[in-house]
Amino acid sequence: MTTTVLILGGTTEARHLAALLVTDPDLRVVTSFAGRTSRPRPPAGETRTGGFGGADGLQAWLERHAPAILVDATHPFAETVSAHAAATRGVPRLRLVRPGWTPQPGDRWHRVPDLATAAAALPAHGARAFVTTGRQRLATFLTDPACAALPLLLVRCVDAPGADLPANVELLLERGPFTLDHERELLRRHAIDVVVAKDSGGDATRAKLDAARDRGVPVILVDRPRPAALPTVDTPEAAAARVRELLSGA
Ligand code: NAP
Repeated sequence: MTTTVLILGGTTEARHLAALLVTDPDLRVVTSFAGRTSRPRPPAGETRTGGFGGADGLQAWLERHAPAILVDATHPFAETVSAHAAATRGVPRLRLVRPGWTPQPGDRWHRVPDLATAAAALPAHGARAFVTTGRQRLATFLTDPACAALPLLLVRCVDAPGADLPANVELLLERGPFTLDHERELLRRHAIDVVVAKDSGGDATRAKLDAARDRGVPVILVDRPRPAALPTVDTPEAAAARVRELLSGA
């Protein structure tokens, strides 16, 4: 009999986990996407796209499709969907989340609890900012009067924000992974003197922090939201092993 595993995805780790699980012919692996990114990298196995319709919608999906396990492998900052996953009933759940970044000697990180604090702190640290926190809450920076007065907000995202952008915003549409050379050149070319980032962790977007350290540029690093209360592993391999244990009844 085929057993379904639902992976809430949108991350490199979710894709790796799907690749590890599809090698088992008895598993039907379904990765769920929010549908925000126009060209998500397709994972192995099946996909579904779009919100479930809140916590109740996710619960209804689980009852209709009866997966044996739900793995929340969403981004560490995808707070809402993770809370919905943690609130589900009747299915074993697992959280896969990569570790956050740790500073190295020479790093000039200023940790802040959220994006609004990052925006408020920005002008104190630099005037030409590289903003890498994504397009979804970009308005936090665009509506902050102090940020509006800065000479440059170089905003990098995967897909373009819908709204018109102020004159001090330069948009860079790029998807990682990014190399150290690429990031160094970007900071140099735009004379960036402060970087804003979320503590996403992982290798794909780490190079901007290394480039900032090399150039003595400060980084405003937004802390992760409080994690959802689920059993948690931090690598796709550990998640695959735990899924297999759960399926075997261990
Ligand atoms: P979010 O704020 O936690 O979720 C907002 C809503 O989007 C959820 O309530 C849910 O809608 C829907 N949703 C989110 N992830 C989903 C998924 N994997 N499958 C189906 N529906 C999903 O999430 P977010 O921060 O917007 O992130 C959206 C997606 O982008 C996630 O898959 C995440 O892994 C990925 N991502 C996020 C970031 C980031 O910085 N936040 C970065 C890289 C990738 P319903 O309530 O209708 O179910």
